[in-house]
Amino acid sequence: MKPLEVLKNFYGYHSFRGNQEAIISSVLDKKDCIALMPTGAGKSVCYQVPAMILPGLTLVLSPLIALMKDQVDAMNQLGIPAAFLNSTQDISEQRFISEQVFNGQVKLLYVAPEKLYGGSYPLVDMLKKIELSLVAVDEAHCVSQWGHDFRPEYLRLGQLRKSFPAATFLALTATADKDTRKDMAERLCLKQPQWFISSFDRPNITYRVSLRSDAFSKLLDFLRIHPNDSGIVYCLSRKSVEETADKLNANGFSALPYHAGLEKETRQVNQEKFIRDEVKIIVATIAFGMGIDKSNVRFVVHTNMPQNIESYYQETGRAGRDGLPGEALLFYSYGDSITLGRMIANSDNPDYVRNMKSKLDTMVRFCQTKRCRRKFLLQYFGEEYPEDCGNCDICFQQGNKMDVTTYAQMLLSAVVRLEQKFGLGQVIMVLRGSQAAKVTEKQKRLSVYGIGKDKSPDFWKLLGHQLIKEGYLTQEDPLRPVLSLSPQAWDKLKKKEKFFLAMDEDDFFQGVQETKKDEALLVQLKSLRSNLASEQNVPPYIIFSDATLVEMARYYPDSENELIRISGVGQQKLEKYGDAFMGLIRKHLRENEIVKESKSPGSRLKKINKGISSSVNETLGLFKEGL
Ligand code: ADP
Ligand code: ZN
Repeated sequence: MKPLEVLKNFYGYHSFRGNQEAIISSVLDKKDCIALMPTGAGKSVCYQVPAMILPGLTLVLSPLIALMKDQVDAMNQLGIPAAFLNSTQDISEQRFISEQVFNGQVKLLYVAPEKLYGGSYPLVDMLKKIELSLVAVDEAHCVSQWGHDFRPEYLRLGQLRKSFPAATFLALTATADKDTRKDMAERLCLKQPQWFISSFDRPNITYRVSLRSDAFSKLLDFLRIHPNDSGIVYCLSRKSVEETADKLNANGFSALPYHAGLEKETRQVNQEKFIRDEVKIIVATIAFGMGIDKSNVRFVVHTNMPQNIESYYQETGRAGRDGLPGEALLFYSYGDSITLGRMIANSDNPDYVRNMKSKLDTMVRFCQTKRCRRKFLLQYFGEEYPEDCGNCDICFQQGNKMDVTTYAQMLLSAVVRLEQKFGLGQVIMVLRGSQAAKVTEKQKRLSVYGIGKDKSPDFWKLLGHQLIKEGYLTQEDPLRPVLSLSPQAWDKLKKKEKFFLAMDEDDFFQGVQETKKDEALLVQLKSLRSNLASEQNVPPYIIFSDATLVEMARYYPDSENELIRISGVGQQKLEKYGDAFMGLIRKHLRENEIVKESKSPGSRLKKINKGISSSVNETLGLFKEGL
């Protein structure tokens, strides 16, 4: 079979994405490869497809034992014979699998590196007796001491390369850090590897950053826009995890906590419920996420600023792995950088402190930037991004900025007249000519007293926040929020430049992405999927991804011919689940007297052309051909 046929038959996908095809053809040419792809780009296909074409076995090395069962279940659902070996299995189970591997009944074997050399009959010895065609090293950055995730057991993989000269090696990682990449390539001892470096852009993720004042009510507003979506809310401490989860539940959202202080069992149960869509929101410390593969995480919220861009990128990257829109929302305050700075300063290694401090400064700049956030992120990872993305809060605001020069000058002068010794509240009282006792006689005699009467306190508050956000006003001390002018503000005032600021707070959530679909049908499709998943004791997204269900709820495929054209429906799944899903779709069409628009392709085309993913476009093309 050719690679594209494997992709169509087993996965039900219509085309390869990004570098997938190039990587696969290199692997089939027996060339060692290193593939750098962001999360969600589809690394697994790069070794799973060759595994089905090459003779003998493909070995997949991964440190994430907790994921192996789900990965293997997903393979088996596609009709691909895969198995795993790890310490969670008992001896007889391990022996059974080894026998199957030995007899050639398994095409893909997932193991953790420590399994290779351990025990009285190490796995390497067995592998020498069979045909080993391909070794895929997943999370390959774990071999590097530079990486954030070094695993000593990975160091022996250099030796493995030498023990299997005839096999091809493919190293895969989503790490974007240059030093780690270089180190990784050296330590794995690959044979003149071909490098495949993908863009690290995650176009389906919307980035938003907001100051933390009123964070919880903003969070509630945000969640109300995403009522049926599943997501992660990261908090800094165990205590704030517990509190946030409680508050969310009190406000009618289903949320569970996850942190290292919980009993292991509770932690597992909570994680499992999240993965199985039984609870929508998990509130967690950053300990959560490494070992989960859930593809339909729709949003990742940070209630505090992460320590560096790498962590932020990795954590937000857990959203939208299925290619549907995802949201990354970050709340920060100036105090965050002080707290984090103190934590870093606790280390007694000066190099480490310097390095981490500079990463923290970059993180702060990301929060405060006025440029496109995606551009900032990608530049940090050494990529040029030519235009503004149009899919981050800054880009959304660009179109809505207004000239507030006069008011900004009033507010800034008031801060100066108050000798940069007061917070925003006092500044506003003075501007509005307040009679409150807190306003002293001396302040009442200032030239700025009362000059801002015609604007509401809310207006001034918003203006103040925008001036802080844009870096014109600074609040150095988190405990005493005293305002002072930044050099940038002085500069602008001196040059008599205009102030353009976004003054419509409702804009915060603009650009929420919606795909056209039959919501009522989607709910039913999801519930059918949940039932099938629990019958088989697998996570729902393994049956069909959200992206696949959304396409069904958009195109109403009610015949096998149409269903197989939906992205993510391969032969095996068509046979296994086709009748159940088509039955549900037919019933829905009948009961709601829906006439499929497919009868008039022109009108449908108009409706859905905007903002849909390439895979959807592809499907659309195929639909049209078939009609
Ligand atoms: P990664 O390991 O790089 O994070 P995965 O291998 O888990 O990504 O793939 C992410 C999702 O994209 C999965 O649901 C996968 O099935 C899907 N996918 C991979 N390749 C394609 C493709 N060519 N077309 C459509 N979907 C794909
Ligand atoms: Zn942007």
